Amino acid sequence: MLARVAPAAASARALAAMGGRPDDVLHNAYGYGLFTGGLGFHYGAERLGATVVPASGGNVPLQLELMADLGADGLLCTPSFALLLAERAEAEGMLDRIDLRFGAFGAEPWSEAVRAKLEQAWGMDACDMYGLSEIMGPGVASECREEKGALHVFDDHFLPEIVDPETGRATHGRGELVLTTLTKEAFPVLRYRTGDVTSFVDEPCSCGRTHRRISRFSGRVDDMLIVRGVNVFPSEIEAVVLEDPALAPSTRS
Ligand SMILES: [Zn+2]
Repeated sequence: MLARVAPAAASARALAAMGGRPDDVLHNAYGYGLFTGGLGFHYGAERLGATVVPASGGNVPLQLELMADLGADGLLCTPSFALLLAERAEAEGMLDRIDLRFGAFGAEPWSEAVRAKLEQAWGMDACDMYGLSEIMGPGVASECREEKGALHVFDDHFLPEIVDPETGRATHGRGELVLTTLTKEAFPVLRYRTGDVTSFVDEPCSCGRTHRRISRFSGRVDDMLIVRGVNVFPSEIEAVVLEDPALAPSTRS
């Protein structure tokens, strides 16, 4: 019988896959309060054994001072906030004082172009993390630092299916992610349609984990545009826009 899912354990597992270690200082700039990201990662980082700095959102100058003075090894926040922090750190000449090894970025879609900017700015592994309030919060699926581009779904706790959003039938290609909780008590969720679009990645991962992988999310079922019969997701347009040096990332707060 499987053990009851412990959100902190799943979140800790995700952090470890991204490169987190027990002796790390993890700067958590996800919002605390009712949003699951802040406390979800906080408890996961504690379970990992790391020191957590509960920075929450806002106040960029203070965040940068904390990251520099307390020696942050990992940055946990949305990718857009990580870009904003990088811009301000560069402008203030603080990039040399901050030595991040990895980032756990989620809660919004982000492209490979954004990953490249984050990794270049911070000199880090920038990893994608997936969770949703209806299931548990952070720690449902995560990239590993060894092979980015696909996320391991922690399928001993969350059963993933991918269906055609029109028919609800299983599909082998890109479709809507459907999740069933296997070990959650009190609030189990059966075949929850996430609205998030992905596909299974069948090749084994070089990291050795055997949790089933899904590709990075290409968008939402409900924000897909059809242009001349072609399915277009806003995240694909973002990647093209970011290639133009005349256009800055959308990081103004
Ligand atoms: Zn892996």
